[in-house]
Amino acid sequence: MKSVVNFVIAMLSLAIVFSSCSSKMTEEQIRKKAADIHEKVLTVDTHNDTPSMLMRSDYNIAEKHDPRKGGGKLDFPRMKEGGLDAVFFAVFIGQGPRTPEGNTKAMKRALAMYDKIHETVKNNSDLAEMAYTPDDAYRIEKEGKRAIFIGMENGYPIGNDLSMIQKYYNLGARYITLSHTKNNDICDSSMDSTEHNGLSKFGEKVVAEMNRLGMMVDISHVSDSTFYDVLKITRAPVIASHSCARALCDNTRNINDDMLKKLAENGGVIQMCILSAYVKKPESNPERDKATKQLREKFQNYEKMSGEEQKKARQEWQAIQEKYPQSLATVSDMVDHIDHIVKVAGIDHVGIGTDFDGGGGLKDCYDVSEMGNITQELVRRGYTEEQIRKIWGGNLMRVFRQVEKAAGEM
Ligand SMILES: [Zn+2]
Repeated sequence: MKSVVNFVIAMLSLAIVFSSCSSKMTEEQIRKKAADIHEKVLTVDTHNDTPSMLMRSDYNIAEKHDPRKGGGKLDFPRMKEGGLDAVFFAVFIGQGPRTPEGNTKAMKRALAMYDKIHETVKNNSDLAEMAYTPDDAYRIEKEGKRAIFIGMENGYPIGNDLSMIQKYYNLGARYITLSHTKNNDICDSSMDSTEHNGLSKFGEKVVAEMNRLGMMVDISHVSDSTFYDVLKITRAPVIASHSCARALCDNTRNINDDMLKKLAENGGVIQMCILSAYVKKPESNPERDKATKQLREKFQNYEKMSGEEQKKARQEWQAIQEKYPQSLATVSDMVDHIDHIVKVAGIDHVGIGTDFDGGGGLKDCYDVSEMGNITQELVRRGYTEEQIRKIWGGNLMRVFRQVEKAAGEM
């Protein structure tokens, strides 16, 4: 008996030695392990605004750019460098007047963006390919190309015409973010006052139609009341394509703990946004704020300005960034959110949606070429390969498949 006890003690101490070894990896070992995992797993970013850049300039996505010299946060060479396999390009339409004319204009602009995305990918068929299903992404990744999905940010271009949802689906949209920063005919936004107190009657029909088609309902940007209304009626899991945890950064754009739990019950997933102000409250900088305010006043009608004027506005914006540099949140700050979400909602309910070219970017994950730094931090904190696989795309693809399956059962 005594020898058995001694044997057990010996084994236990051996186990302790081994586990303390693994938690004390050197930086070099961490880098190597992270690079290996990053290469192996499917990596998906569920929210990217580079199409907005494609629309307003002759931005050549096949060339490598410098993000600190107005080069944008994503192009195909840097996407490869950063080991990002799949991305959801946003057809983003800012909220405008909710009138027949406004709706028509939004619709036209949205259709032009769909065309632009398809044209861009077609012109670079050696580097990228359009994806419409989870299987597409895994196949395209194996072929060594980038998989391009489409998500629509803001349901505004649906107007009051439910049949537009099918049209956008046919053009490749696999999720719709119900609102942007202002209320629309579908629902209340997280950054506007109460109007419908959640989803409108029309909004309920929008959710039902998206469920029927197999499109993911995206609850980033919507108000808390809209979130709860959506969860009451959706017949499939939902996503937050780019949001953070409110417990760590108090902002109405972020998701509170009760919502995180409800999202987990729904089977959905929250994709971590890496927009610095949603990750960590920015330090106040009165001079910078003043300069930014003056710039906003000077270029109030940005949307209506000529290309040349818009370019000037962007240059002045860049000059302010350089004169009053804002200290950005770090990957470590962002992984604090992942730790929190895992604790509250579980490892099966978190992913990544950068918002690159829509304001996204951290000090040490400034553009798509630096996405491997996220994996390094996850390895450093002891996340396993299987857990990292879930975070980088496994969870999102599970939800995507469930949404498709629920549509087939209706
Ligand atoms: Zn957004």
